[in-house]
Amino acid sequence: MLIQPKVRGFICTTAHPVGCEKMVANQIDYVTAQGKITGPKNVLVIGASTGYGLASRIVAAFGAGANTIGVFYERESESEDRPASAGWYNAAAFEKMAHAAHYYAKSINGDAFSHEVKERTARLIERDLKQVDLVIYSLASPRRVHPDTGQIYSSVLKPVGQSFQGKTVDAMRGEVKEVVIEPASSEEIANTVAVMGGEDWEMWIDFLLQRGLLAEGASTVAYSYIGPAITFPIYKEGTIGKAKEHLKATADKLNQTLKPIHGHALLSVDKAVVTQASSAIPVVPLYISLLFKIMKEKGIHEGCIEQIYRLFNEHLYTATPKPRDADGCARLDDLEMRPDVQEAVMTLWPQVTTENLLQLTDILGYRETFYQLFGFHVPGVDYTVDIQPTVKIESLA
Ligand code: NAD
Repeated sequence: MLIQPKVRGFICTTAHPVGCEKMVANQIDYVTAQGKITGPKNVLVIGASTGYGLASRIVAAFGAGANTIGVFYERESESEDRPASAGWYNAAAFEKMAHAAHYYAKSINGDAFSHEVKERTARLIERDLKQVDLVIYSLASPRRVHPDTGQIYSSVLKPVGQSFQGKTVDAMRGEVKEVVIEPASSEEIANTVAVMGGEDWEMWIDFLLQRGLLAEGASTVAYSYIGPAITFPIYKEGTIGKAKEHLKATADKLNQTLKPIHGHALLSVDKAVVTQASSAIPVVPLYISLLFKIMKEKGIHEGCIEQIYRLFNEHLYTATPKPRDADGCARLDDLEMRPDVQEAVMTLWPQVTTENLLQLTDILGYRETFYQLFGFHVPGVDYTVDIQPTVKIESLA
């Protein structure tokens, strides 16, 4: 079949296997060109199929030569006329290339919040790797079924305390508009914390520790975001920010939990990038379009892979790690938050309208990156060729 993008709001319901494979290959090429890292040996990545988690798996394998187990929740192609999800194709491409390079790589597709997937992962580690020395926690999900109670929590992206009025963009239509978002109820805040906070991260680490699957000195890293004041009402001080506060408190708690094995838990504060998760957040796509323009002009633009390589190489696996911030977090958003970058973004922010969107922002770059998340608009891919949408992941455990 010929696979075309089908965009509905901020998601694309189709994905292109060849385009996704090329995007994974590009990330692998980037890491290979940077050089080897003396890093972890056995790595578990939870949320390994797209965005920051996929980049983490690529850096672990192709940068540090690590064995990797990836956990994710993706849709397989069930018929000849329905493509799989982008993450499915990414994982298939990653495994193919990892195996060709003789790296151990196995994957588990299922709900990481469930006891069942934790158990399957534990059995796989026990059998193949014995222990892991790095656990990356990179889930981004709109909902969570609590494994003990069966309760379903849905997250919301809303301000807390007061309503928010501000600019946003419909990135695909190129329309800048005002949005008013009413504050979240206390139940919505609690639900968002239940989905995107640290409870599940803690469950994973407690479980792996109890089963003896964490190596002496093992580390675990989860990803966070802070961003500029302009997005505070919807991000840092909004429902998602409350979840990230909980994630930070969990990191502190896990640092105690991991003491007996001399392990560490860390939050890495990453830069705003276009991923399936971030495109769903109001205001953020407009900010990212401005940020991309400024960072590209200054020659400091980065995606997930560049930052995760830096995380491993400059923060985690080096004799001279970069300093942590006052809260003990690694700051990979250092370039985004540079005063000259933020001043340039904030100067343009009030001026942006639908009419000057193309001139003032990198909305075209935003859109291209969005399409590329799903394997479309990837240079070097011939989209007029008939494609078989059913692709196997080689080592799905
Ligand atoms: P993403 O949407 O690209 O990736 C999410 C991953 O989680 C995918 O691998 C998906 O399969 C997996 N997943 C979702 N629900 C699952 C479930 N129930 N079970 C198993 N796997 C599941 O997201 P992302 O943007 O890379 O976000 C990852 C982390 O990075 C999040 O904590 C996010 O807040 C953080 N972060 C993102 C940005 C950004 O701008 N995108 C910036 C800084 C930090």
